[in-house]
Amino acid sequence: MSNILQRAARVLGAPFLTLRRLDRLGDMLEKRLDQLEKRGLQPLAERQARLETQVGQLTQSLTALRQTSGARVASKDERSAFRRELPVEVSAQPPAPDATEPLQGCPTQTVLKLGACPVCGCQTFTPVCRFNKMITMPRMPDAAAADYNYSLCHQCGVVFAARRPAGARFAWLLQHFEESLGRTGPGSKRAGKIVLNSYDLDDAGKARLRELASKGVFVSEHDGASRKDHLWQLQADRLSNSRHLEILGSLLNLSAPRVLEIRSRLGSNLAGLQRIWKAETFAIPMFPSQRFLIQEVYGIPSDAALDFDHFHVGYEGTFDLILSNHMITHTVRPREYLATVHAALRPGGHVYFYNEPLEEEFLEHDKSMFNTLNAFHVQAFNRESFVRALNANGFEVVYMGSRDSSLMCLARRAEGPVLWEPMSDRERSTRRRAYRSAEELSILLLPETVRYRFADRWKKAVEHGLETGFVAADERGRLRLMLRTAALRENALG
Ligand SMILES: [Zn+2]
Repeated sequence: MSNILQRAARVLGAPFLTLRRLDRLGDMLEKRLDQLEKRGLQPLAERQARLETQVGQLTQSLTALRQTSGARVASKDERSAFRRELPVEVSAQPPAPDATEPLQGCPTQTVLKLGACPVCGCQTFTPVCRFNKMITMPRMPDAAAADYNYSLCHQCGVVFAARRPAGARFAWLLQHFEESLGRTGPGSKRAGKIVLNSYDLDDAGKARLRELASKGVFVSEHDGASRKDHLWQLQADRLSNSRHLEILGSLLNLSAPRVLEIRSRLGSNLAGLQRIWKAETFAIPMFPSQRFLIQEVYGIPSDAALDFDHFHVGYEGTFDLILSNHMITHTVRPREYLATVHAALRPGGHVYFYNEPLEEEFLEHDKSMFNTLNAFHVQAFNRESFVRALNANGFEVVYMGSRDSSLMCLARRAEGPVLWEPMSDRERSTRRRAYRSAEELSILLLPETVRYRFADRWKKAVEHGLETGFVAADERGRLRLMLRTAALRENALG
């Protein structure tokens, strides 16, 4: 073997094959080939072809070796190649500049710039992810809309958007909920989904919903009921929420309690609690169609409006139990939110949080972190930091469960400060590393149309992927994402 090939083999056989090393190898080969050309010793093409074949074989053996040794990729996380080939570099030019113009009409005021954790007040935090889901969309309201600077609080460990919309700006984003989430294109409405969309209901819409709802919740299939003649979503919601009734009914023993549900979907939980405890119930729904249906179907008061910015209850008196659906991740001012909930509970009363997404969703399952952190997700957490967040705000955790990376947590109102331990250095460094990897992977998972935004970071992301195992080179040196097998199904890109 010639000297150059021995050096190539050394580089490829080194423990971590990085882009830097591949670049160095490329330079070496180029220099050598230049010399050969000058000296005219061998036909250039023949030599190059042989070199390429050998480099390819070495790369392949290296990949195989890594897979069998399992040194860089945990064996429980079996990975398969994602079929799209990854470029080594991307251009900073948008592929279709017309399609990237800003959306019109989003007020610039207000973007809050936080100098302290909005959950525990700690002033020490580390940025862990700059962007939200808007960065994956060709068009966004303005550059600030994507730039949330998610940061890890060193004390409670909650990850919070250090820049977040409030006031008129937040209200505008909420009015354009479906667009802001990337569920529809700009200015267009989402078809179907009459029950759970964000749009106002007109008289015809109300009449239609009333007619469908009049068939009841549990419409039996035994005499050929069609999904078109009734609101099948009512029963589906009852069944999908039944686990919360199991938890609450088993852990608490209440008699005719006053119960409030914040961000009630279709009133299912409250209807269930009326049945098991004869509860007196109140709902704060998010959308007009939900408000209409909760009143129409169950007769539950639901006039109070849901304000994510300055949360208020909107009903008189205190409650024995408050259900809080997907609010900690959304609320603009979590301390204010938790203080309001605390004040609305009777002493010793309980609060039940559910649908609170755990960060493991994107840290452990190869989902795009950008996609998961949409423009309304301004807090993220693991189990430990969720507990600390509650402790810091005067709640003691009674029970915590999870399903599909989503938390359910029952807590009790404490009557004084709750003692809690700040996040350990070890947890902090583990999570920082995990967030870094997740961010690099999210860059490589971006749709091709928006990759140009990361032209300056792309190469580094690929290099990081090669080092940690979520990128691999095939026998011809082509790069591919290596995703945990389960995640391949969830990432629709390809
Ligand atoms: Zn904090």
